Amino acid sequence: MSDNCLFCKIINGDIPADIVEQTATTLAFCDINPQAKTHVLIIPKVHIESTRDLNDENIHCLSEMAEMANKIAKSEGISESGYRWVINTGDDGGQTVHHLHLHLLGGRQLQWPPG
Ligand code: 5GP
Ligand code: ZN
Repeated sequence: MSDNCLFCKIINGDIPADIVEQTATTLAFCDINPQAKTHVLIIPKVHIESTRDLNDENIHCLSEMAEMANKIAKSEGISESGYRWVINTGDDGGQTVHHLHLHLLGGRQLQWPPG
């Protein structure tokens, strides 16, 4: 838990969010500014700033996030049509919230390369 972290506040219920799914370790909620029909953020319930801070002790959170993302892709009906996972890191990566999160985007044809 980090006092100034927006996503830690969502985990604690201090800031409301449209929760999609959760387990003891992982939380998924709708992005406040959706970029596709499905735009869900999947986060670890412990504060990890970014992919830079993954290590042997916490790397398991990524597989837990991946498992939840696949489950939500199925429940959202985008598993077969396709979807994109995005994790932004640091300034050049476009990270604006410094709590590790995976974007699950789908429900429309996504373009490549990203801007
Ligand atoms: P990033 O740019 O760090 O990869 O993604 C941060 C995401 O968090 C953005 O897509 C942004 O719309 C979303 N976001 C920012 N503030 C809030 C909030 O208060 N609630 C929710 N649900 N999403 C937020
Ligand atoms: Zn946090």
